Amino acid sequence: MLNEKMLFLGKNRSEIRELFEYGNTLKKRGERVFDFTLGNPSVKTPKWVTNALIEGLNEENIHAYTSAQGSLKARQTVKNLLNKSKKTQFSSEGIILTCGAAASLCGVFKALTSSCKDEIIVLSPYFPEYKVFIEGAGAIFKAVGFTGDNFEPDYGELESAITKNTKAVVINNPNNPSGKLFTCQEIERLVDVLKKKQKELSTTVYLVSDEPYREIVFGNEALPFIPDFYEDTIVCYSYSKSLSLPGERIGYIAIPDKITAFNDLYAGFLGSLRSYGYVCAPSLFQYMIENFKEEYSDFSIYERNKAALLSGLTKLGFKCNNPRGAFYLMVKAPDGDGKKMSELAKRQGILIVPTDTFGASGWVRIATCVSEQTVSGSMPYFERLAKDYNL
Ligand code: PLP
Repeated sequence: MLNEKMLFLGKNRSEIRELFEYGNTLKKRGERVFDFTLGNPSVKTPKWVTNALIEGLNEENIHAYTSAQGSLKARQTVKNLLNKSKKTQFSSEGIILTCGAAASLCGVFKALTSSCKDEIIVLSPYFPEYKVFIEGAGAIFKAVGFTGDNFEPDYGELESAITKNTKAVVINNPNNPSGKLFTCQEIERLVDVLKKKQKELSTTVYLVSDEPYREIVFGNEALPFIPDFYEDTIVCYSYSKSLSLPGERIGYIAIPDKITAFNDLYAGFLGSLRSYGYVCAPSLFQYMIENFKEEYSDFSIYERNKAALLSGLTKLGFKCNNPRGAFYLMVKAPDGDGKKMSELAKRQGILIVPTDTFGASGWVRIATCVSEQTVSGSMPYFERLAKDYNL
């Protein structure tokens, strides 16, 4: 008998993947399709990355295993960059290179939870794979709701949700699917709740800061860095979006020196990554980090796509949120049924994802990391969709 849970996960792809695969079938048949499903960056990888990879291929032993935590030189580079840009004091001993944010999160969730009663809380709307990762670690997934159309966390609900068994709360800033940037005030309120509950329950509740979109912030907005607000923060980072490398699987976990139980966390994360069989992060991409240049992918296209979609859809009568970062836009289903809106859009060749599984029903998510032609080409079909709703 196979593991039922794994069988279920394998047989039932996420809604995002399901629509993405459907889009691929249409594309193969040469049919018209505007695919806004996956967070797959359309913008090129920076030239320095390609050059570093080509150069790396000629290095001796480039394909060899590295230390489980990653090469010292790569970890030092990550630490130096973090300390320079965030004015922090991470040490290279607090950095573990991983196979992307997904691996970082899985490693952290598994190490933080040891009993089937242990819980990890996420803030809605959230990246649906959190549920898979948390339950995969054998822990309880708990989602806390939001208030208003700016998706502010429901602090009261968060306070009631934290129990003696809560090991961590996950924050994702900028957020997938909403593009929300948590403000300093919002983070302070969140941290107040955590501190209050820690004291009340005499326990440690870690904040897991999932940051794959850290650099994708529009205008001149400054993104608050979560460890500045809460010492017990574990940072999970990925280069998937910032360098347009999602298929290559490279990221890291950063543990601040002053965190509660630093040594145990470090060993625990290495242990759980080991138990998942991650072995080490890809060595060629560790070489890229060792030769890091602070130039990211050109995010201006995402901002232009966001602006075009936001104004186009608003003119058509749809209600959208206004993302301030990441590369997603949420649109309210006119009759409150996101699944139906996704289905109706599909008939026009537009693939958009209902956000019920993101903890926000009544909305759909549009990934804006597509080409500008996809955005402009889709507009007449969004107009047809608006007519379906008599907007
Ligand atoms: N966290 C969030 C919020 C994401 O949106 C994604 C990917 O889309 C991930 C984690 C996983 O990123 P990675 O490709 O680095 O595993």
